[in-house]
Amino acid sequence: MNYEKHLYESTFETEAQLEVRNLARKFARDRILPLVEHDELSQTFRPEIIRELGELGLTGIPTEEEFGGMGLGYQEYIAVVQEIAAVSASYAVSVCVSGLPQMILQKFGTAEQKQKYIPSLASGQAIGAFALSEAGSGSDAGSLRTTAKKEGDHYILNGTKLWITQADDAEVMIMMARTGVDGAKGVSAFILEKGMPGIKMGKKEKKMGLNISHTMEVLLENVKVPAANLLGAEGDGMKVALSALDSGRITIGATALGVARSAIEESIKHANLREQFGKPVLDFQGLGFMLADMITDYHAAKLVVQKAAYLKDQDLEHSIAAAQAKVFSTDMCMKVTTDAVQVLGGSGYTQEFPVERFMRESKVFQIFEGTNQIQRIVISRALKG
Ligand SMILES: Cc1cc2nc3c(=O)[nH]c(=O)nc-3n(C[C@H](O)[C@H](O)[C@H](O)COP(=O)(O)OP(=O)(O)OC[C@H]3O[C@@H](n4cnc5c(N)ncnc54)[C@H](O)[C@@H]3O)c2cc1C
Repeated sequence: MNYEKHLYESTFETEAQLEVRNLARKFARDRILPLVEHDELSQTFRPEIIRELGELGLTGIPTEEEFGGMGLGYQEYIAVVQEIAAVSASYAVSVCVSGLPQMILQKFGTAEQKQKYIPSLASGQAIGAFALSEAGSGSDAGSLRTTAKKEGDHYILNGTKLWITQADDAEVMIMMARTGVDGAKGVSAFILEKGMPGIKMGKKEKKMGLNISHTMEVLLENVKVPAANLLGAEGDGMKVALSALDSGRITIGATALGVARSAIEESIKHANLREQFGKPVLDFQGLGFMLADMITDYHAAKLVVQKAAYLKDQDLEHSIAAAQAKVFSTDMCMKVTTDAVQVLGGSGYTQEFPVERFMRESKVFQIFEGTNQIQRIVISRALKG
């Protein structure tokens, strides 16, 4: 189709990116697409999808080969995430969240911790989770109240975490808890394993969208965690968490790109086919200009996300670029998906077409991994002085 060139063309992709992108695109369209609408409605998460993605090497793209990953970069990672998100934002988020413990362990783990936990996550055999937020501490994460008290060669963890993605399916969960003083300096990071006595799942959130992805309350009642499962030193917890979020923001930017692309594709198809007043609605300037802005904003966001991934791959400072990628791409996605519903008119508001799902899913991208207000604080602080 004529429009495909303009929507899909990408100037900067390398051979490696094209290869993993095509692999992910085919899997997402063949395997996930037939299930997605049913599973979103029934809130069904299928761990086998993650395992199958793992068999293709797609659950450990930037993880070192030594630990079972593909040893590629974030530029390849975002190419894969976009393709999964274009079909299912929930599974894209699942892959990204499982990627966080891999990234954290690689950067902060001991040799034993890396060997023990990374390979099963990288291969998709195990699912990972990242537990920072609590009812009283979202944006102000450093004020968290879950405690970890040292007793001999163990820590005893008590508290309640909220909104933890796929905690119910996770075999490995990176858990932030307070070992010391109030504030960020008193927070430490631990590796928790599924089945440790005292870990219980609380409520599963009923959400606006992203329903294949379960969002869980996690209760910790005297959970005995070996001291060997402390990540880094006591007090390193916020450093660990923020470093993970810097990378996570790039992949959330990529998730938003995937959803936006699908919303634009649906809009273009519909605007060509739907006729009113004797011609396709695309021929009306009011609608044609809306589509022109949607596709232009999408390509602009893609460049911002690619830049952040490039800086990360070059091992260059990328915190600000990652915040910009997250803000720009997720705000773009919210606007594009809202406009997509408008382009489809009444049909857009029904579940006959996926754009209403895309719009509902987009909202959360502006909220998690640090709200877009928090990203703007990060960016504006860098301008001081
Ligand atoms: C579907 C979903 C999945 C999630 N998954 C995870 C997960 O896996 N692990 C995890 O740890 N957390 C997870 N979260 C939690 C998420 O990261 C938090 O919701 C987010 O950080 C915001 O925190 P909050 O909800 O407490 O909002 P609040 O911090 O209470 O913020 C409320 C509003 O105030 C604004 N605000 C706050 N402080 C400022 C400020 N200084 N300046 C300007 N505005 C400000 C915010 O931007 C927001 O608009 C998830 C959340 C959702 C909805």
